[in-house]
Amino acid sequence: MNQGLQNDIETLVRLQEIEAEIRRLQSVIQKVEKEKITLAARLETFETALRTHQQELKEIVQQCEDTEQEIQTVDARIIKSNETLRMVKTNKEYQVLLREVDDNKKRKDVLENQLLAFYDQREAAEATAAESEQQFLQLREKIRAEQAEIDKKTVDDRELLVESVEQQKKIGQTLDPSLMNRFRKIAKMNQGQAVAQVRNESCMGCFMNVPPQLCIEIQRANQLISCPQCSRILYHVDDDPMAGD
Ligand SMILES: [Zn+2]
Repeated sequence: MNQGLQNDIETLVRLQEIEAEIRRLQSVIQKVEKEKITLAARLETFETALRTHQQELKEIVQQCEDTEQEIQTVDARIIKSNETLRMVKTNKEYQVLLREVDDNKKRKDVLENQLLAFYDQREAAEATAAESEQQFLQLREKIRAEQAEIDKKTVDDRELLVESVEQQKKIGQTLDPSLMNRFRKIAKMNQGQAVAQVRNESCMGCFMNVPPQLCIEIQRANQLISCPQCSRILYHVDDDPMAGD
C-alpha cells in the first residue's frame, strides 16, 4: 500500500466533506438573506405610500395657504376701491369702481367656498398621512425585530462558514496541484463529488458495479483509480469509517 496515496485520498475525502458543508451553509445563509430582502421590500412599499400621502398633504396645505393669501389680496383691493370711491368726481368713475368692488366681492365668495372645500380635503389628507405614518412605524419596528431574529439564527452558520472556507484553503495548499486539478475537474462533473467509496463492488457515487479486478487494485491503493462510469476517484474502507473517529 502506498501511504502517500492513502493520505491524499483521505485529504480529498475531507476536502469534499468541507466543500459540501460550505455549499450547505451558503445556501442556508442565502435563503436567510432573501427573507431579509423580502421584508425590506415590504417595508419599502409602506414607506412609498407614506411619502405619497405626505406629498398630497403638503400640496393641499399649500392650496389652502394660496387661497387664504388670495382672499387677503382681494380684500385689500375691495378696501382700496371703497376708499377711492369716496373721492371720485365723475359718475363714470364711480360706476367703474363700483363694478370693480362688485367683481372682487364675487371673486371673494368663490374663493371662500373653495377654501372650505380645501379645508375638508386637508383634514382628510392629515388623517390619511397620520394613519400611513403609524402603519409604517409599526411595520418598521416589527420588521427590524424580525431581521434581527433572522441574523441571530445564522450567527453560528456564518462563523462555521468562515472556518470551513479557511480549512478548505489550508487543505488546498497541502495537495499536489495536479491532484487538485483532477479533483476540481471531476467535482465539476459530479455536483462537487470527486471521491467515492467502493462498497460491495459498487461505486457509492453512481451506484454502478466496479469490476472485481479494479476493486482489488483500489484495495491495494498503489495508484488513484477512477470509476469507469462517473470518473470519481474511488477508495476502499476496511471498517466502519466512523469507528476510528
Ligand atoms: Zn461511479
